[in-house]
Formats: sequence, structure tokens, C-alpha cells
Amino acid sequence: MTIDEMLSGALTVGIAGHVHPDGDCIGSSLALKNYIGAVRPDIKVTVWLEEFSNSFDFLKGAGSADHDMDIEQVCDLFFVVDCGDIERLGAAAKYFRTAKKTVCIDHHMTNGGFADVNIIQPKASSTCEMLYYLMDADKLDYATAECLYIGIAFDTGVFRHTNCSLRTMNAVGSLIEKGLDTEELLDRTFFRKTFAQNRVLGLVLERAKLTDDGQLIFGVLTQEDREACGVSIKDLDGIVDQLRVTEGVEAAVFIYETMQPGEYKVSMRGNQKLNVAAVAVSFGGGGHIKAAGCTIKGEPEDIIEKLRERFFDQLM
Ligand code: AMP
Ligand code: MN
Ligand code: MN
Repeated sequence: MTIDEMLSGALTVGIAGHVHPDGDCIGSSLALKNYIGAVRPDIKVTVWLEEFSNSFDFLKGAGSADHDMDIEQVCDLFFVVDCGDIERLGAAAKYFRTAKKTVCIDHHMTNGGFADVNIIQPKASSTCEMLYYLMDADKLDYATAECLYIGIAFDTGVFRHTNCSLRTMNAVGSLIEKGLDTEELLDRTFFRKTFAQNRVLGLVLERAKLTDDGQLIFGVLTQEDREACGVSIKDLDGIVDQLRVTEGVEAAVFIYETMQPGEYKVSMRGNQKLNVAAVAVSFGGGGHIKAAGCTIKGEPEDIIEKLRERFFDQLM
């Protein structure tokens, strides 16, 4: 079923993605909003997303995203994008629950299909790649193309990861043809860091620990560290990826304290040998084989030991 077909009969549409939205989540939510605005201007579209980095603010529709999620609204149709389970919708779950019809478009292999209509493609690089093929390419405008391009770029590590296929690059090629300023788009959203972000990366790298014959690397950041560096959670993108490219490392784990003291978000990246999704799932999280996450309460040192235990079987 295409997006155009899904919209049939709907007058109010809601869109939401996962908590702590990343490039693919922001890109897919805003792309869908912009596309609907272009093909069905009679539909009222609301995007519910938690606050995200202001490097995405220039994208069309970013300013209208509702971060508070305190208004009451019942949607004819509700799209969940880039989100593998209902808990990860956070406060936006209430709009999912009350909507007349729900559609989930996602590429997390841990997604069991919790909406009325589920389009789940674990082989797709990103939700934005999926959306590209669900949209009518002729009706897809510049603003939508920018959002989709950014989402694909983020989930492929700028077209480097093994999830980046011919199908991905065909989509990317067509998006570029819409006239995108690709270099500026990537610098603005992916590569450019504030001075504070570079400092916090430096801090994590300086304190990083190698374990298990150098096969695992752990980085830790507490709330206190974050405050000392003057950064917030949404400024931590890219740190785990830098840990991952350490020579000899099979999996990189970045553990950072959330807004709840004593609660840590665990962000993991694998190289050739390990399945980090399996470890994340064993702690109630999820993700992909080479990129997954979960949340664990406790002291960082204990969390590291627990994670090492779960990696143990895979490391043999
Ligand atoms: P992150 O490390 O936050 O960049 O997440 C890596 C991948 O794992 C992304 O695709 C996330 O959507 C997914 N992921 C992260 N944390 C969780 C979680 N607690 N539950 C399910 N999926 C997660
Ligand atoms: Mn995501
Ligand atoms: Mn994604």
C-alpha cells in the first residue's frame, strides 16, 4: 500500500517517532508531514516528537513539531515511524492509542508489529529509505527530499554502513536530483559539532576503557559530566561511533546518564563479529545487529560488568 492510498478518507493525521529522536526519526516524521502537505493539503497533520538538536531546525516543518504532547487530539490516521515498540513512543503513545487507524513504518528487526497496518523491513537502511519507496517520486518536493536524504545519511553513517544497498543509493540518487545541496546538508546536520560537543567527545575518549582483550570498549558520561561540559543528551550523537572505530574493537558501548539520576542509556555499535541487538534485547531494549540500545539502572561500573557478561558467549 502506498502513502497516497493510506491517506484515503483521512482528514486528521498524527505522526510520531521514538523518544530521543535521531536523524532518521526526525527526517521520516518531517518528510511524511511535508509530503502529505504537498499531496493532500486538505489534511491537518500534527507531528509529535521529543525535543531534538537545533541543527535540524532549518528543515521544513521542524518548527511546528509539538514537543509537549499535552493537547488532546483524536486522529483519523496515526503514523508511527522509525519506532520498534509502543513504549518507545513515549508520551506520544496516547495519540497512537486513541487514533482510529494506525500505521507503523519501521526497519527495526525487533519490531513485532503493534499497529493496525505494519510495514516493517529490517533490510532497509532507514525508515526514510522505506518512505521514499512508499511515496510517489513525482510528487515528492524539495523539502521532503531534504528530510529523506538526512534520515538515510544518519542511519547509514553517511552511506558507509553495510545497510547501505543499491536500493538505498537509488533512492539517494533520485533525492539528489531534486536539487539538494548535499555537502551543506551533511555538514549542517551530521559533521558540524559545537565546541562543547567536541570537548565532551574528548572527555569520553580520554576515559574510555578497553576490556576482553580489547574487543569491547566502554565510554561513560554522567549527568554531572554533561553539566560540566555544558551539553545536553541531544548533543551526544557520534560519540559511540568514534568509539567503534578503535582498532581491534568488536563492539563499542557508550553509557550515559539520562535525566533520571542513576538511570543510564546504553548505546551500542558492533563491528563484524557481534550482535549488539541480542545484548540490548536481553535488557529490554532493541535495535539492529550492528546498532542497538537499552536503558539500565545502576552504577556505571556494575552496568559495564553486566554487559560484559551478556557479551561473553558471543566473544568465545
Ligand atoms: P542509539 O544507540 O540510541 O543510536 O540506537 C541505536 C539503534 O537502536 C536505533 O535504531 C534505536 O532506535 C535502537 N534503540 C536504541 N535504544 C533502544 C531501546 N531502548 N529499545 C529499542 N530500540 C532501541
Ligand atoms: Mn532511529
Ligand atoms: Mn532508523
